[in-house]
Amino acid sequence: MQCWTHPACLRHDTGPGHAERPERLSAVLDALHVAFPAMGWHEAPRATRGQLLRVHTQGLLDTVLETMPTQRVQLDPDTILSPDSAEAALRAAGAVVAATEAVLHGPTRRAFCAVRPPGHHATADTAMGFCLFNGIAVAAAHACDEGGLERVAVIDFDVHHGNGTQAIFEHDPRVLYLSSHQMPLYPDTGYRDERGDGNVLNAPLPPGAGSAAFRSAWEDVLLPALDAFKPQLVLVSAGFDGHWRDPLAQLQLQAGDYAWLTRALVAVAGRHARGRVVSVLEGGYDLDALRECSVAHVAALQDAA
Ligand SMILES: [Zn+2]
Repeated sequence: MQCWTHPACLRHDTGPGHAERPERLSAVLDALHVAFPAMGWHEAPRATRGQLLRVHTQGLLDTVLETMPTQRVQLDPDTILSPDSAEAALRAAGAVVAATEAVLHGPTRRAFCAVRPPGHHATADTAMGFCLFNGIAVAAAHACDEGGLERVAVIDFDVHHGNGTQAIFEHDPRVLYLSSHQMPLYPDTGYRDERGDGNVLNAPLPPGAGSAAFRSAWEDVLLPALDAFKPQLVLVSAGFDGHWRDPLAQLQLQAGDYAWLTRALVAVAGRHARGRVVSVLEGGYDLDALRECSVAHVAALQDAA
């Protein structure tokens, strides 16, 4: 088990009062250091332009990397580019690529990327929803193109639908995208009838759904689809904003729900993917919930498949 992060991720400055703030990552890092003092930590490299261009347009790279703002600029009402954001975005995406390399070629089978900004809302050409580059999409494309994998699963249990990840892969049969999320909620995608080329499966849940509805969506619908796909690698968009304490959503989950789902994902990976799971932090906006859920998630990732 490896963890990847980079100090630049703490310097992406979204400004006063913004939910996606550096303290989120500090909370996760502090909690993981306390809970797992022997954990191997790795400093994330930058994603390369070639890696980013597998899923993003040159135009988005120019916006994020060449704007070089001297103060914060708003790319949209939610999404901020600060002087240090380009470096943070490169390291956040680079972490997921490096972690993927580590599980594909050794020495580990599982990895967690404690990074920000998050990524799953970023589309091929647009930064949105706090996200600049879609790190999990960059890593999935890397695993296919560079690692030669034919079946990569992206599991998204963030409370928001990962519209960017879905849009990038909805016509790429090498990637299966599975998501549970609250609906209605930002970004108002992820309806049941959005199936891509049969490689997309969405399980929208109503506000207040709670643990039982969340677990049955995974147990009855999403996990059977994952098992049938026989993924060679499992990538996880790990947002903890479905927790009952979270201020941005009302899904009413508990930390134990994330541990339960993580154990199930590790079991599927053990059957088909040589146990290989790479998880990346996406959302989660209550600091106590982030601490508790990230520890529960990483503990479950560590358990042997
Ligand atoms: Zn979210």
